[in-house]
Amino acid sequence: MGKIVECAKVDPSSGCTHVIRGTTEEEVLKNAAEHAKQHGIREVTPELKAKVKAAIRDEK
Ligand SMILES: [Zn+2]
Repeated sequence: MGKIVECAKVDPSSGCTHVIRGTTEEEVLKNAAEHAKQHGIREVTPELKAKVKAAIRDEK
């Protein structure tokens, strides 16, 4: 079972409907960092990383 995180769950103000997937939490974090670039976020701060981690859930 994979892991997903909805971009809107991390940043509701973005209005982004992108869903980030990965097989592990680490992979989701890596893909989220990649996706963050589309929002002009070049560096994932520990604070942002914690927000992403908190929003990760199992894919149904
Ligand atoms: Zn997004």
